[in-house]
Amino acid sequence: MTWPVKIFDNENNDIYTLDIDEASALIAISNMPYSFPDEALKAQIIMARTFLAKKTRNLGGEGCNLHKEADVCRSSHCIFFHNKEELFSLWGKESTNRWSRVCSLVTETKAQIAVMNGNPILPFFHKACGGSTENSENINGIPITYLRKTFCDYCKDNCDDIINIDIDIEEMEKILNTKTSMINWQIGSEIKGIIENVERDEDGRIKTVKIGNTIYKGQEIIEKIGIGSTRFGWKPKVITFESKGFGNGLGLCQYGAKGMALEGKTAEEILKVYFTGIDIIPLRKYEPLKLLDDRKFLLDPGNGAKIGEIYMGRDMLLDICCRIKKKLSLLGAKVYLTRKKNDFCPMKDKVMMADSLNPEFYISLNCNFEKNSNLSGTDIFHFRGDTESHILAELIMDRLDSYTTLVQKGVKIAELSLFKEIKVNALLIELGYLSNEHDHNIFKDENGKESISEAIAEGIIKFYNKN
Ligand SMILES: [Zn+2]
Ligand SMILES: [Zn+2]
Repeated sequence: MTWPVKIFDNENNDIYTLDIDEASALIAISNMPYSFPDEALKAQIIMARTFLAKKTRNLGGEGCNLHKEADVCRSSHCIFFHNKEELFSLWGKESTNRWSRVCSLVTETKAQIAVMNGNPILPFFHKACGGSTENSENINGIPITYLRKTFCDYCKDNCDDIINIDIDIEEMEKILNTKTSMINWQIGSEIKGIIENVERDEDGRIKTVKIGNTIYKGQEIIEKIGIGSTRFGWKPKVITFESKGFGNGLGLCQYGAKGMALEGKTAEEILKVYFTGIDIIPLRKYEPLKLLDDRKFLLDPGNGAKIGEIYMGRDMLLDICCRIKKKLSLLGAKVYLTRKKNDFCPMKDKVMMADSLNPEFYISLNCNFEKNSNLSGTDIFHFRGDTESHILAELIMDRLDSYTTLVQKGVKIAELSLFKEIKVNALLIELGYLSNEHDHNIFKDENGKESISEAIAEGIIKFYNKN
């Protein structure tokens, strides 16, 4: 295996592991016609591998946020693709030949992915752009440097068909959740360019009306259109939407890729046309393990909640910090803990450690205990003006919110003496309340602790994996 990817199968509700190359093959061939030329398919394969590299947690990706044990799910939530059985039943007796062609194309792509500044790109694609692709901000409001408008001559032959959709105006209002001024339309009002110069007699009967460029008498309309009397009106009912091209116009134009491949362009050349300024590099040179390389973190398993003279929750906090350490170390981080045993660590020692290590972040985990057992949920604190910590805190809280049922009460500013003495970016996470049954059950549970550590680790990874 070059790299294992965990896939959630929405059909069978199970998780299995595929090699990134096999998964890329399946994704590419499920999303581009088999009849396309080699280099176009290879471009699609590189995009599929890039997408997987971006998603896979062990490569620093964020995984599928609906199925958190998986890197991607096999649905439009992450990416739809056929599994091998489905593909073979679609292909019938062609299967073996076809699969071996796809596999050799995968081999020819030499484990390549598309990156921008060292990070895998978002490999958007669409069927045919109709003449030019789009700037990303025009589609989803987010300016992405490599998704720029590109003129595309190549798909012209394939997108001459214009797609028309007729839609009832009332229906359109419903779908788009909007209101036209239809309701105020007087039946029989002028519609510029279509029905104009309406003349009625005192009874409201149409004497003459100009339709298009011809003036008709009311009586003529009765005869030609077949309506009941000259006391008639009209209103627009249907709008026709006309479109050229297929898809949102973001990223690679598939029929454009086909056209370029037929002209002898390589997969790399094709990708570089549709994704401005990218590099194509082999996966092994994209060093995801170095995402956090040499970055130091100081984790502080706090002293827990003081109940009388006893501190509670210390073990749990230490356990969670060890799990976070393990996850971040996998990505090359150097992670230090303020204590390794179930003992008390005074604040001056923590400050001294932070001073000598000078970590990127000092992250302290703690828990509460209150007489009022209704109090529950997580707060994250940072020092006033510590914007880096604020960003990280928001990322962690977002992950905690998706991975746990702890109530996320927000990121807050606190004037703690710890923050004043520690000279590095620092966060204090009050995970929840031992005195609250719901919170306590999460802290006791193996899955609960794993989810909390996963959430915090991912928040940190996300902080360094902005792209
Ligand atoms: Zn998914
Ligand atoms: Zn195109």
